[in-house]
Amino acid sequence: THALDIRGLTKTYGDGFQALKGIDLSVAEGDFFALLGPNGAGKSTTLGIVSSLVNKTAGTVSVFGCDLDTKLSEAKMNLGVVPQEFNFNQFEKVFDIVTTQAGYYGIPLRQASVSAEKYLKKLGLWDKRNTPARMLSGGMKRRLMIARALVHEPRLLILDEPTAGVDIELRRSMWGFLEEMNRQGTTIILTTHYLEEAEALCRNIAIIDQGRILKNTSKRDLLQEL
Ligand code: ADP
Ligand code: ADP
Repeated sequence: THALDIRGLTKTYGDGFQALKGIDLSVAEGDFFALLGPNGAGKSTTLGIVSSLVNKTAGTVSVFGCDLDTKLSEAKMNLGVVPQEFNFNQFEKVFDIVTTQAGYYGIPLRQASVSAEKYLKKLGLWDKRNTPARMLSGGMKRRLMIARALVHEPRLLILDEPTAGVDIELRRSMWGFLEEMNRQGTTIILTTHYLEEAEALCRNIAIIDQGRILKNTSKRDLLQEL
């Protein structure tokens, strides 16, 4: 089974705009995969559907063989998502944001605390654990989003433009963190509009434009064509 399998996915927004025109995409377990495309291509819409934040118009999506229409809670156990917008409670403390998320997965508080500590330390946020999120810098908020997405130790981590607006130094350290997660077995999918980012990190790349997948290939083959 694939970590992610998308078949015939379409999305027409309420205003009639067709953002996805029939997407097929399979990502193997263990892969580090980039969905690369310009602004407006449909990347966030695709990830929004995978993370159940956006309703699809037609098609199927499954995560490790669990169809989102019929086995949503099982699918969610295997899935961590980092959307572009900071959608945590800005007044809550960093540690509590991460452990609260664990509660949604039924993880007992003691175990949630262990996991929160592990990821806040890995992401350099442990010193900020008692700080309200609104006091963090943009880069710290971005890392908090990642820690929160990992607290239930999902097998698939999906990030929407993870390094947009992040300075070069933090970008490199985030890349290193994601590479380490991938080496340890987590399947990673990210969206980006930087070829450079896809090139630096990913093994396989799909190019999306105007709601269609134009190409889905290994990085090596893609770079040979360019
Ligand atoms: P859905 O079909 O998923 O319910 P809607 O079409 O109802 O989505 O739109 C959801 C929200 O996104 C609305 O509040 C709408 O105003 C807003 N929106 C509309 N156009 C855009 C756009 N081009 N980019 C981002 N958000 C938009
Ligand atoms: P990307 O993430 O690749 O930049 P998006 O998935 O955000 O692309 O957007 C794809 C297209 O759908 C864009 O043209 C965008 O304006 C449009 N769109 C996104 N959200 C909405 C919405 N809620 N309502 C109407 N159109 C939308």
